Amino acid sequence: MDNWEQKMTDFLRHGQKDRVTFLENLGKQILPTQLTRIQQNDKTILKEMVLPKWMNWELLYEWSNRYKVNEKGRECILCNNQKKNGIEFMEKWICEDCFLKLKNLE
Ligand SMILES: [Zn+2]
Repeated sequence: MDNWEQKMTDFLRHGQKDRVTFLENLGKQILPTQLTRIQQNDKTILKEMVLPKWMNWELLYEWSNRYKVNEKGRECILCNNQKKNGIEFMEKWICEDCFLKLKNLE
């Protein structure tokens, strides 16, 4: 488990599932140009974004760098396709399509 997964696990342990959900959805809400600026450590972006109080720059920056890795595209463990969008869960990559299918099964 890496740092990020540890953080997400801690949030869940403290009953802060809303934080995990927020971070998972942030990628769909943010503009690509904004994402790039976060990755470049441009803190002026904070004035343009509406973020929850618990979100600090360190967390946002870490989140954005995680997204950068994802942008290269990775092989989904479920459909074996190279996909750019998805989530990492327990060191396994699940593409967005498969993730949504799984969610609907819940
Ligand atoms: Zn997939």
